[in-house]
Amino acid sequence: MSKVVKFGGSSLADAKQFMKVAEIIRADENRRYVVPSAPGKRFAKDTKVTDMLYACYDLAEQGGEYKEALKAIKERYQEIIDGLGLKLSLKEEFEVIDENFAKKAGRDYAASRGEYLNGIVLAAYLGFEFIDAADVIFFSDKDGTWDGEKTRQVLSRRLKGCKNAVIPGFYGSLPGGKIKTFSRGGSDITGSIVAQAAGVDVYENWTDVSGFLIADPRIIDNPRKIEVITYRELRELSYMGATVLHEDAIFPVRQEGIPINIRNTNAPDDEGTWIVGSTGQKSKYVITGIAGKKGFCSVSVEKDMMNSEIGFGRKVLSAFEEQGISFEHMPSGIDTLTVFVHQDEFIDKEQKVVAGIHRNVRPDTIEIESDLALIAVVGRGMKSTRGTAGRIFSALAHSNVNVKMIDQGSSELNIIIGVDNKDFETAIRAIYDIFVLTAI
Ligand code: ASP
Repeated sequence: MSKVVKFGGSSLADAKQFMKVAEIIRADENRRYVVPSAPGKRFAKDTKVTDMLYACYDLAEQGGEYKEALKAIKERYQEIIDGLGLKLSLKEEFEVIDENFAKKAGRDYAASRGEYLNGIVLAAYLGFEFIDAADVIFFSDKDGTWDGEKTRQVLSRRLKGCKNAVIPGFYGSLPGGKIKTFSRGGSDITGSIVAQAAGVDVYENWTDVSGFLIADPRIIDNPRKIEVITYRELRELSYMGATVLHEDAIFPVRQEGIPINIRNTNAPDDEGTWIVGSTGQKSKYVITGIAGKKGFCSVSVEKDMMNSEIGFGRKVLSAFEEQGISFEHMPSGIDTLTVFVHQDEFIDKEQKVVAGIHRNVRPDTIEIESDLALIAVVGRGMKSTRGTAGRIFSALAHSNVNVKMIDQGSSELNIIIGVDNKDFETAIRAIYDIFVLTAI
């Protein structure tokens, strides 16, 4: 049995947090490979080291005075080092960083130093080997995407003879050696990549919550936790705005069938949430989770006999494509087709899209509605339960929410509901109540 453990920024924000992390790692010798983020916020109004680095580098790039900002970053690490009682000096590291900032080595390089330095500190504290992610995680110079093949080869070879190691998250290198980062929150991806390359049994992702919640706690008081969720369910929920884990972190481990366990550094005895490929385990409730987003427009196109006109859908969508607008969702009826788009992307191009649809399909009518929200109700349990859509309808009717659209995906894994922005919270509460609070 072996595990990769990734710790987020809040888990490594200061020396006290570092001590909790070390205790967690030492409590289980299977926790062999450790992926740290950069130090996060110590309190609500604090600044993450990654953001400090971006700001500092921007100053350097504009030829401004950045030394003070760099000093403040150095102090954050020094505080951790002193708090842990370590005899470690980052003096040379900071000299190199200073030189590279002056040479304008790039924003990605700058941001990556947060994880790099935290990795050095954590490795020293744990007595583990430090492996620079630039030597084992690679991006392709063609399109800048992650080079899975090369990474797997080099990283698995590197980890083979290595019992314990710290590999900083968030970055890797391009073929010439230039540093490149993943998008924000990308240490989750590194954890998944290391788990895949090492072929471990579990990828533990330690953060500051005890797993995924069934619904957003800003809308529902004390929502219950999701115990087990499948990769597919999670994908549906995160696409709709639920965040705990970086979306792209799912893919590397999913290929190997390695489960992810989301855990809480501040409550290490909590079981957290398990993310798995498939499970025979019934979910506790019919639904696994609810998520949603506000700020959509719907464009409904109606035309008699539309369903027998070959290429109708494609022609409507090409009017959006021509304006560079991606669509979010597209339910259709017999003679109508509705396209949901992000309002802020759409608004400026509205008339051009409408003209394009007229040109492409000569519709009878086009109706546009704005200020809409989409809610996804997701759950593997829906497949074997009758009447889920009906229950949603009646719960929403009872709460006086007008349902603009309801669409059940063919996988029976999700139901998407469109409501007015103003009804968004009420609708989520109504759905949560009926499926979770009053579940039988
Ligand atoms: N430190 C980076 C960020 O703040 C990456 C990460 O934490 O995963 O986005």
